[in-house]
Parts: sequence; C-alpha cells; structure tokens
Amino acid sequence: MTIGVLREGGKENRVALLPEHIPSLVEKNVTVLIETDAGSSSCASNLEYVDAGAAIQTREFILENSDIVLKINPPRDDEMPAGRILVSILSPLNNTTLVKKLAALNVTSFSLDMIPRTSRAQAVDILSSMATIAGYKAVLVAASKLPNFFPMFMSASGTIRPSKILILGAGVAGLQSLATSKKLGAVVEVFDVRPAVKEEVMSLGGKFIEVEGSKDDSSAGGYAVEQTDEYKKKQAELIHNHATQANVVICTAQIPGKKAPILIHRATVESMSPGSVIIDMAAGSGGNCELTIKDETVLHNQVRIIGNSNFPSKMPADASKMLGKNFTNFLELMIDEEGNLKLDFEDEIISGTCITRNGEIMNERVKEIISFEDS
Ligand code: NAD
Repeated sequence: MTIGVLREGGKENRVALLPEHIPSLVEKNVTVLIETDAGSSSCASNLEYVDAGAAIQTREFILENSDIVLKINPPRDDEMPAGRILVSILSPLNNTTLVKKLAALNVTSFSLDMIPRTSRAQAVDILSSMATIAGYKAVLVAASKLPNFFPMFMSASGTIRPSKILILGAGVAGLQSLATSKKLGAVVEVFDVRPAVKEEVMSLGGKFIEVEGSKDDSSAGGYAVEQTDEYKKKQAELIHNHATQANVVICTAQIPGKKAPILIHRATVESMSPGSVIIDMAAGSGGNCELTIKDETVLHNQVRIIGNSNFPSKMPADASKMLGKNFTNFLELMIDEEGNLKLDFEDEIISGTCITRNGEIMNERVKEIISFEDS
C-alpha cells in the first residue's frame, strides 16, 4: 500500500500530513510518498519527512505510484489521480463539475467535508478542526485591524471602554470566536437561528440575542434550515440594531449546500462607526455581508470588510497538525493492520464521504444537484 501526499500550491500553506503523522502509517507497512517541499509552508522540511520514514518524490511519480492520494484542496486537472483513491476536501455540493470529472476518470473519491456529524466521526471531522482555527484566527485579525483595545482599561490616562463584538452563527467557528474574544476582554453578543445554542453561548460568557419563532428542523442533523420571510424581517432589524453598536462583527452563518444568508446589508455597514471591522468567514459560500468579496478586503465608509475564506491556512503548522490527525484517523478506517485496503461501505463514515466510485457518483445529494442542474 502506497499513500502519496501532494503539495497544495497557490495561496494554501497547509499540508495533508506532517512528519509526525508518518510513523503510525509506516508501522503498518505503508509506504508514504511526499511531494517535494509539500510541508515547507507548514514549517516541515523534506529532511524531517525522510527522518520520519517517508520518501520525497515528484508529483508525477506520486500520481503514478500511489494507491491513495491525499490533497487538502480539490485536485487541479494536472493532479487527477485517475483510477486511484483520492481523499480530499472537495465541497462536492458546490463543485459538481469536479465531481463529474472524478467519476469520468474512475477516481474513488472521499470528501472529508461530507463527514456525518456524529460522536464517532469527531476524530475525522475536518469541519470542526478547521472551524476551531478559523474562529480563533478571525478574532486575532479583527483585533489587529481595529483601532481600539478589546479589553477595558482604567489608567491615569483615562478609561477605555471594552470593544463590542457581535458574532453571527454559533457553530464551531462562532463559539471559538466567542471564547477568544472573551479571553481578550471584549463584550460579546451572539445571534443564531438555532435556539439550542443559547446555553453554550451563555456558558462561554456571551449574551445570546434572539428572534422569536425560528424554524428548527431535527432532520437537518443539527444544521440550520431556511427561515420564513417574517422571521427574516425581524432578524434583519435585530442584527441591524446590534451591528451598528458593535466595533467588530464576525460572520460565520452558513447553511450546508446553500448560499450563505445575507445578514449584514449595505445600510447596516453605512451606519457602523468608522474603523469598525467585519470578518466574513462565510465568504467562501457567498458571505453574510452584502459587500463581502471573497478573499479580498473591502473598505466601505471606513468600515473594513475582510472576506478571507481560508483562515486555517494562516496558521498552517497547527492547522496541518489537526488536519493530519483527521486524515490519518480516516485512513485507519480503510487500511487494516497489515497495511491492506479494506473499504467497508457499511461504515457510515466511509459511505457518507464517498463521492465517486467505479465511474459513478455515489452521493445522493450530489446526484440530486447534478440532475437539477442538467434538467
Ligand atoms: P455551520 O458552519 O454549518 O454554520 C454555522 C452556524 O451558523 C450554525 O450554528 C448555524 O445555525 C448558523 N446559521 C445558519 N443560518 C443562520 C442565520 N440565518 N442566522 C444566524 N445564524 C445562522 O455550523 P457547524 O459549526 O458546522 O455546526 C453545525 C452543527 O453540527 C451544529 O449543530 C454543531 O453542534 C454540530 N456539530 C456536531 C459535531 C459532532 O457531533 N461530530 C461536530 C461539530 C459540529
């Protein structure tokens, strides 16, 4: 069994495995091939990989000789592991062209962002590990851009009031942003359509602001669902009133497979104080702010709107450490003790993440989207 790790390239600093993840695979007689300089942006040298038991190789060699290829971002056309297994983060619900290509090239693909959100799957849950990093880093970026302190200060030079932070969406990223903002001494308010998160917000020291009458769908597996128009109107007023009082708004609200809800409108931005910062972590799925541009910073009426869609790449060493653990935990489900492949499609983690196999699209939600697009 040979596992290959490709270099990400572009603006991506993370890598799928660090040297510390190699020994547990080598112990199972697995050969690990790492593309030259794949770990350099994550502070891992080629030499450290070799010392850990891996071999450094070219991309071409890895694509030709690996049974399983690991890549964080979806493969480009020149990185397709035709006829082999690919473990990646494919966003298949928003990336149907790629899914069709993978099926046509007979790639057996697994997408770790499709992991079921169950207790057993927590060890492979890249959505949670990366959201934890994003939520933390977003607050640090906001604090560094804000022309104010986060905490309250009382000194002989006067009293500084603490900054007010509004967090939209209390999933994994939002709760981490709340915890980090509180550690820095800010006053934090949080809004989410799911009333179930109120207790978690309060236990972390945040104030939960809410709108009556939200729709909670237990069949959505804990995720948010689309709300009624009346609810959306009340929600818009509430968010406008609180955002215009905030120094920082951190947006994390998303609905899987759909465009992110617009929660901060142009008029709200125009009513915010000069110097305020909006961090839009939902930028990758359209953004929660009407003025967000993905992966750009927009300055509108002296309000800075940061649309970074990949904060984890800004903390590549620890992001790769967590990702590598998620990847190796996933590999453990498909490799036996002797290092042989054992794909068990009765396992809900294997079947839930499998996107293409034997030239066909396996995931029902992706199939539905494709048949809708083609109709
Ligand atoms: P997410 O990234 O899908 O969404 C972030 C948050 O945005 C969610 O809390 C959602 O309710 C909220 N949101 C959506 N629309 C909104 C709107 N219009 N206004 C305000 N907020 C809005 O969330 P996530 O962090 O991936 O977590 C999703 C669910 O999965 C949660 O219930 C979480 O507890 C659960 N989860 C389970 C596990 C596990 O058991 N393995 C691990 C992590 C998360």
